[in-house]
Amino acid sequence: MFQAAILGLSLAILSLSRNVIADELACVCEPACESATCSGRVCFVSKHLEEGKPHNKKGCMRDPTSEYCKGSITEVYGMKCCFSNMCNENLNIELKDNIEPNEDPSHKKLLLIILVPLFGILLLSVLVGLLVWKLVQNRWRQMHYVSDELGDMDIMLKAAMVGDSTLDDLLSDDCTTGSGSGLPFLVQRTVARQITLVECVGKGRYGEVWRATWHGENVAVKIFSSRDEQSWFRETEIYNTVLLRHDNILGFIASDMTSRNSSTQLWLITHYHEHGSLYDYLQSTVLDGETCLRLANSIICGLVHLHVEIFGTQGKPAIAHRDLKSRNILVKNNMQCCIADLGLAVIHSQSSDYLDIGNNPRVGTKRYMAPEVLDEQIRMDCFESFKRTDIWAYGLVLWEIARRTAVNGIVEDYKPPFFDAVPIDPSFEDMKKVVCVDQQTPTVPNRLYSDPTLSALAKIMKECWYQSPSARLTALRIKKTLKKLSNSFDKPKQLS
Ligand code: ADP
Ligand code: MG
Repeated sequence: MFQAAILGLSLAILSLSRNVIADELACVCEPACESATCSGRVCFVSKHLEEGKPHNKKGCMRDPTSEYCKGSITEVYGMKCCFSNMCNENLNIELKDNIEPNEDPSHKKLLLIILVPLFGILLLSVLVGLLVWKLVQNRWRQMHYVSDELGDMDIMLKAAMVGDSTLDDLLSDDCTTGSGSGLPFLVQRTVARQITLVECVGKGRYGEVWRATWHGENVAVKIFSSRDEQSWFRETEIYNTVLLRHDNILGFIASDMTSRNSSTQLWLITHYHEHGSLYDYLQSTVLDGETCLRLANSIICGLVHLHVEIFGTQGKPAIAHRDLKSRNILVKNNMQCCIADLGLAVIHSQSSDYLDIGNNPRVGTKRYMAPEVLDEQIRMDCFESFKRTDIWAYGLVLWEIARRTAVNGIVEDYKPPFFDAVPIDPSFEDMKKVVCVDQQTPTVPNRLYSDPTLSALAKIMKECWYQSPSARLTALRIKKTLKKLSNSFDKPKQLS
């Protein structure tokens, strides 16, 4: 019985010890273990990153409930446990990628797969685009060069073709006059650059006028001083106005702005008139009645053309000169005059209710200023006012012409208007005193009344000099009166 009890006890102890031994597990142990295996109740595998490098560990632990076995795998550390013999032999740990939680790494791959070729295509198209642009640019340059050449050749051809009357032909060519009263701008520039200056023929207040040649033809070149850019700009603008071309307005050819030796050169190229200005002409020439009338008539025809607005698509605005005087009127070979120097002109269009007085700081010539200009009573917002100041000045020009017209062999020397009332270079105040305060008008020589034509002219000039601007004659009225006078001149001739 006792033996049986001892045997039972020994068996129980044996079975207990067997159980303990049976709970022990053999696990892979690496690195730095005494042997390749170890025993414990849990096998584990762990991995951690140290300076970016992974370090793996395999081994045994005694506590199967270890917190380490519950730890989740992160980007830098992970541990897995298993509970059978050598179970950690093939157990591996993948640490989390360094990506956003919940982000599937396959997304990144997909993104790369899409983006890389897309970027490649983009780069390629930019390169192809650049190449095409370069090619187009080269082609355009070639074409432009050719068209410039053709443009010049066109003018050369015209120049070569038309012999003596090159300019007239160029100017009357329907194809070239589309831009207004002058040549197209490109042609203007080309003409300007083919000009040779010959001699200085006049000096105005604002620059010099030169006789020049273009393909053997005389032209006049007005060279503006750079401080009078506004006058150049204004004259260019006015001359390019549609339908300005008229026998009694100086014929415009071209306008050009060039940069020479770092200064700007402003040129206005017009027809050349060898007699020069009416002022120059009257100095040395005594007129007969017929020439006097011819000059007077042609000036008023030019002024009517300026003053009138022509309606319609091919119309022209009304223009007032604002600096009419004998120095700004040229004498042509046929003893007709033409009006020049439009640098101060104002433009008005009734149809579009448009008044453009420009922004030229220049003012008219004091000697020729109407009383309302001198006493500053002129209505600058009313275009009619400017026309009326032109009429005042026209009366003075008529007086200059009439004095130089001989009747029965008697004639006066040339004198400027108000020569006997103001100094040579009168001030604004000098003129104001004479014209506004004393209300003087030039003295009309008595001898004029002995000639029917000249007495008619004397009557006209007096009607240009009313203090009240609205009482003065209009250009059209004067033109009609002078036409009647000319007709009476022509009649005896026709009879004879
Ligand atoms: P400014 O604006 O400087 O007064 P103008 O156009 O009045 O210039 O010209 C000044 C002078 O030059 C005129 O008075 C005239 O003597 C001369 N002149 C101007 N244009 C011509 C021309 N086309 N032909 C001949 N002489 C001219
Ligand atoms: Mg002038």
